[in-house]
Amino acid sequence: MLIAGNWKMFKGPAEAEAFAVELRGRLEGVSGVDVAVCPPYTSLAAVVQALDRSEIAVYAQNVHWAGDGAYTGEVSPAMLLELGVTGSIVGHSERRQLFGESDEMVARRARTALEAGFGVIACVGETLEQRESGDTELVLKIQVEAISFAAGAHERLVIAYEPVWAIGTGKTATPEMAEEAHAFIKGLLDRPVLYGGSVKPENAAELMSQTSVDGALVGGASLDPDSFAAICRAASTS
Ligand code: PEP
Repeated sequence: MLIAGNWKMFKGPAEAEAFAVELRGRLEGVSGVDVAVCPPYTSLAAVVQALDRSEIAVYAQNVHWAGDGAYTGEVSPAMLLELGVTGSIVGHSERRQLFGESDEMVARRARTALEAGFGVIACVGETLEQRESGDTELVLKIQVEAISFAAGAHERLVIAYEPVWAIGTGKTATPEMAEEAHAFIKGLLDRPVLYGGSVKPENAAELMSQTSVDGALVGGASLDPDSFAAICRAASTS
């Protein structure tokens, strides 16, 4: 089980550091679950420091495919490793939809990060329109195959199934819908699959109890130490 908190563009260094200290205390004694937080770039150093010698990993929200170069606004795996960051999300639907990231870009990011020794959470998921027109499996197949073609079944690769219509909307996939999509993804690529999309303390245990659900990528509910710790605890007992 892996529970990762995607903070998106929230929490500057001071707030992030205070949160990390609080979370560390709340997760003491919680076992059987790996936990990662994904702060914005400018808060990574503060969070790495606050979580020094703890079991909580610090991941970035994105990472570039080149070691260095003329890529304004981008950050390489080596730069993040130097800070003590050990992994990254790639292909979040906000990156795909708002910033035009293609399957090919996502796959290249995943491959370079894995080659650098990073843990990678690669996000896939269908929009509401795609689900309603019966294209969910086709969309997942295209997205997962792009990642698996570039990155292979690398040991540190985890897929996050995040139906776009469930992200930040309060609408969660039913446990059956999540299970069906996760089983389909695992049939394409034999890696752990996290569920993402309005995971909260109230629905975490049921989602995590599905056979093919190996954890969660949590957005909104990861911004509050109480709710994020509660989700981590639900995963540790399921
Ligand atoms: C996310 O941003 O990856 C996410 C799943 O957000 P939320 O939990 O807020 O739906």
